[in-house]
Amino acid sequence: MAAKLIKGAEISKQIREEIAVEIEELKGKHGLTPGLATILVGDDPGSKVYVGQKEKACDKLGIYSARTDIPADTSEEDLLGLVEKFNNDPKIHGILVQLPLPKHIDATRVIYAIEPDKDVDCFHPVNVGKLMIGTARFLPCTPHGIMELLKRSGTDTSGKHVVVVGRSNIVGKPIANLMLQRSPGGNATVTLCHTGTKDLAAFTKMADILIVAIGQPKAITADMVKDGVVVIDVGVNRIGKTPEGKGILAGDVDFDSVQEKAAAITPVPGGVGPMTITMLMKNTVEAAKATIGTK
Ligand code: NDP
Repeated sequence: MAAKLIKGAEISKQIREEIAVEIEELKGKHGLTPGLATILVGDDPGSKVYVGQKEKACDKLGIYSARTDIPADTSEEDLLGLVEKFNNDPKIHGILVQLPLPKHIDATRVIYAIEPDKDVDCFHPVNVGKLMIGTARFLPCTPHGIMELLKRSGTDTSGKHVVVVGRSNIVGKPIANLMLQRSPGGNATVTLCHTGTKDLAAFTKMADILIVAIGQPKAITADMVKDGVVVIDVGVNRIGKTPEGKGILAGDVDFDSVQEKAAAITPVPGGVGPMTITMLMKNTVEAAKATIGTK
């Protein structure tokens, strides 16, 4: 039987509608417009697309967006100066420096320079630490999106065995951590797999909920999962082009075969992808709300 589709595009639209209401309230009751500063260093085409999408999402929701594009040869000191300017700008509640940065810039130093209360990507070690101990103000955008997908598709995580494949700092480690927190949307038993895992399939077959973020197209196949699993496929891999020249995307999961066994599964595209920017908008609104009554 084919799995139920967890439609990120629809869930994301629903969340954006909720965010729009919150923004109207902030403007009406507090005269407060949430503001997001995005900094793009250089002209990497992929990064340009991502920053453009974030800017567009802000515009649609009525979030003030301050985009700064600076050349690839900008010095680290100049970039740090720009971050500091936004740290001190009361119209800005969230700061996002688009990664990757050119090689001559130490990305860690730049991330550490962002004021933690404005770190809407949740990359600053203060926020990573708060996530770990369960007191986070912001959750990193993709893991946060995964939590919402599970919640809004009616997937209970408590007491379930969640297997995460991939241990990156932006997806694998934080989602594993969130899943094991003793709080709603968590309370799962978690296994975290990576390239050092021997016999990956032995672990993935045990999963009630399988979250895959490895960047390897269609690597998880039907023989690696059990019947009734809920699958969250984070992967976005370009595997070719249509005759019209449009890019063809595939997830890290072999959707066609796995959906025959799964109870529910996210498609690629249209699953986790649309959630990431939506949760960035959510974090920006949360950051703005936190400033109420502080001045
Ligand atoms: P990284 O490349 O940073 O990390 C990949 C992780 O997967 C590593 O921990 C690596 O292990 C592990 N891994 C790779 N191959 C295997 C394998 N065959 N078996 C087991 N583990 C493996 O990737 P990201 O987390 O940044 O991204 C993962 C995927 O998710 C990519 O396709 C990316 O494009 C996508 N993505 C999508 C987002 C969205 O919004 N939809 C947002 C972020 C990412 P090791 O540590 O041992 O090297």
